[in-house]
Amino acid sequence: MARYKDYNYKQTKLLPVDFAEQILPGSFEYTLNYLVDNELDLSVFESRYNNDETGCPAYDPAILLKIILAAYARGFTTSRSIERLCRENIIFMALSADSQPHYTTIASFISNMKEVIQPLFVEVLMVCGNAGLIGEEMFAIDGCKMPSNASKEWSGTHADLTKKQLKIDRAVRRMLKRHREEDASDSVDPDVRQRDEQQIKKLQAISRKVKKHLTTTEEKLGSRGTPIKSNITDNDSAKMKTSHGVIQGYVGVSAVDDKHQVIISAGAFGQCQEHDLLEPIVQGVKDNLGEEYIEKARLTADSGFHNKNNIEFCQSENIDAYIADKGFRSRDPRFKDYKRFKPKLKQNKYFAPADFSFSKETNTCHCPAGKKLWLSTPNTVMGDHIYHRFEGYLNDCRQCTLQQRCMRKPPSSRGRQISVRIGEVKHPVPNLLKQMQEKIDSRKGRHIYSQRIATVEPVFGNINTNKRLNRFTLRGKTKINAQWLMYCMVHNIEKIQHYGSIE
Ligand code: SF4
Repeated sequence: MARYKDYNYKQTKLLPVDFAEQILPGSFEYTLNYLVDNELDLSVFESRYNNDETGCPAYDPAILLKIILAAYARGFTTSRSIERLCRENIIFMALSADSQPHYTTIASFISNMKEVIQPLFVEVLMVCGNAGLIGEEMFAIDGCKMPSNASKEWSGTHADLTKKQLKIDRAVRRMLKRHREEDASDSVDPDVRQRDEQQIKKLQAISRKVKKHLTTTEEKLGSRGTPIKSNITDNDSAKMKTSHGVIQGYVGVSAVDDKHQVIISAGAFGQCQEHDLLEPIVQGVKDNLGEEYIEKARLTADSGFHNKNNIEFCQSENIDAYIADKGFRSRDPRFKDYKRFKPKLKQNKYFAPADFSFSKETNTCHCPAGKKLWLSTPNTVMGDHIYHRFEGYLNDCRQCTLQQRCMRKPPSSRGRQISVRIGEVKHPVPNLLKQMQEKIDSRKGRHIYSQRIATVEPVFGNINTNKRLNRFTLRGKTKINAQWLMYCMVHNIEKIQHYGSIE
């Protein structure tokens, strides 16, 4: 018969724990501890506290900052999990000097970070700069859309929300009417009645919330001045399309230096289009690292940032920018065999202009039936191109056997019309979009742009996957911005841990 070693749960063992020994050199916690104690100016927190004469002492912001950032680095995002770590994990006990703050203290500290996060982010960035982690050769800008603490079901224009609120009120009235009828006929089922009453209370509370939103907030307007969707829970957030479906949330945008993927500027924005976000992020780079950085480094950004205003802005700021347009890959011969980048050919039922033969020398056009068309409007300008407009003779088209392949309806007053491109408009000022296209299609442009993905995408991978920030947990733009900057700060502290030198 087998024999096992004896064990007894009813025993006590005392383990000596030296907190200072728990924070090992080379670890993230060691770097964080060093930075908070020696490099960051925590006097920014002082205005929060007013307990110098009365009230109990507060938790030291250094302790709270250390445990929160260390928890974020390990993928713990909630205040309750951070509180638990301080009770159960020896490294967190050491970082917090065993002070064990309550989760409400941690939550309140995080939601008030909006006032102080920017200077702290810049101080960490300065440490990265002094450690030689910023290359000043290229920086890439990109955004990452994430859901926030708001439901997309409660999004809509004021007209949509008014309709929803009236529908809820109608449902409540219907239920109340049914109750009156049941009372009169004495056929009340107590269980159903109790459920209904709870439902009525719930619907009335929602209706009040929608009404309050409609009376206290202004209608949000888009860039064209038309109403866009607002949200009754978090009106700063936006409904946006992502590769994983439609979400209600924010886009976290970052500018990343290519040498060690240090984030040099960041911000969170509640808008689905990234077009307007390049300027504030570049302004952030200027504020954080100075004009010299912008003058030296090239900028790369994907097609989400490609528009005339952004290219004009980069030109006015003397930035060597490489911003790809949507058709960039389909023009690149290296992707010619990739199905997804092949230009989509329209399956046209009817004869296209390419099926007509045009002679530039004689300025004549013949249709697939071999009939000559007449020049109805010469040299007409559409967009950046010049066209000749031709028209079939009515009699030819009426009697044509190919008519059904050429025209949607039998001709009544005019024959088939087509436009043939004959040239380009010569712009008095350079066409910036075209110039950017040529720049990015050049060999040098392709080489520089190809570094964008390897620079910025791993940063989002680290924050979203390793740090598990796959949704913002706060509400309101300023708080979300602070949360995004805290994660960006954690990312930069990791860079100092891996590539910097901390005594
Ligand atoms: S319908 Fe008119 S334009 Fe078209 S093929 Fe016939 S003749 Fe030519």
